[in-house]
Amino acid sequence: MRKPRKFGNSLAQATWNKTFQPNYGTPPISLVKGKGVIVYDADGKKYLDFLGGIATNLLGHAHPAIIKAVTKQISTLSHVSNFYMHPQVLQLAQSLQKMTGDKNSKVFFCNSGAEANEAAIKLSRLTGRTNIVAAHGAFHGRTMGAISLTGQPAKRDPFKPLLRKIKHVKYGDIAALHRAVTRKTAMVILEPIMGEAGVVLPPKGYLKAARAICDKTGALLVIDAVQTGMGRTGTWFGYENEEITPDVITIAKGLGGGLPLGAMIALEGSNNLFKPGDHGSTFGGNPVACAAANATINVIQSKGLLKSNVVLGNLLKNELTKIPGISEVRGRGLLIGIVLKTANAKALAAGLLSDGVLVNATSDEVIRIAPAFIISKKNVMDFVGAFQKSLGELNG
Ligand SMILES: *Cc1c(COP(=O)(O)O)cnc(C)c1O
Repeated sequence: MRKPRKFGNSLAQATWNKTFQPNYGTPPISLVKGKGVIVYDADGKKYLDFLGGIATNLLGHAHPAIIKAVTKQISTLSHVSNFYMHPQVLQLAQSLQKMTGDKNSKVFFCNSGAEANEAAIKLSRLTGRTNIVAAHGAFHGRTMGAISLTGQPAKRDPFKPLLRKIKHVKYGDIAALHRAVTRKTAMVILEPIMGEAGVVLPPKGYLKAARAICDKTGALLVIDAVQTGMGRTGTWFGYENEEITPDVITIAKGLGGGLPLGAMIALEGSNNLFKPGDHGSTFGGNPVACAAANATINVIQSKGLLKSNVVLGNLLKNELTKIPGISEVRGRGLLIGIVLKTANAKALAAGLLSDGVLVNATSDEVIRIAPAFIISKKNVMDFVGAFQKSLGELNG
């Protein structure tokens, strides 16, 4: 018999190509272990992880608090379904309710961002209205309802017909929102910052105006905080700086601290739309995922990470802005888009990978970073140094 090839990046790629649907393309490396913001690939190469599993690993890899919570939970009780309660899900629901500032808000748990938005769509149908307004460029997930909300034609068009009566308007344009939202609109869904679109911020006052438009027409204001949420931008959900209260908040990504978990939170006024039997999820609110979420929230609070995210984010922005070849650095807290002067973001992401840094190019112009909240100032300076070097080499 032939000796099996040693597991490494090239064997991982061969296996992937033989077994995986081609929807992702083949990743360049297989990661095998990590600690904090450092990860290692199958060839033993070390990386500084500034993508954080796409804004999910809030405490980095192998954080002791998560290891402890998850280990304890899986050795005690694994999955119970929603026929029964368990302490972890109750604790998490209380924490999320507190974060909204609305003691009458009510939580539904699921497993992903798309599912959280699906729940919001279904909830909005129970208002008796069906029209929805969303933003061009927005990303709300890949399931049929969520992709119908998503404002990116390349992701939508192959799957038409989608949900009907969804209108997309220019993000940040108050007048366009005004024109689109009517008394037939069930919900308006907006990201506080559009993450997948390249970390796009709306002008100040946009969410406040959206709130007023929804109040006037009776439409639900749904804030998709899947990417901005769980403290990434320095507040729990990313909309708080606009001093609004949404009707519905959807979260996922960082919620489980690296484990799959999502939630849809309906605030006062829309908290009683779902009736028994209207919606459900087998795995939603799984004890192990909730234990990880509770541990994550606990560390964020006890270590003051909401504040430090803003400090570290500002340091990143200030240092990155000094690098030639960058035209703009935008974002809030630890969700940052780095806009390049030349359209070579994909080549730069590949260059950074070979220099041992993980980032993601959301387009030809923009590099997105969403590192763990536990990065140090040294990690920031190492990242900035590597970015300058890779960009310099690329631009010659
Ligand atoms: C990632 C993302 C989603 C989809 O989340 P999944 O867990 O991939 O389904 C939805 N909305 C926003 C804003 C996101 O960034």
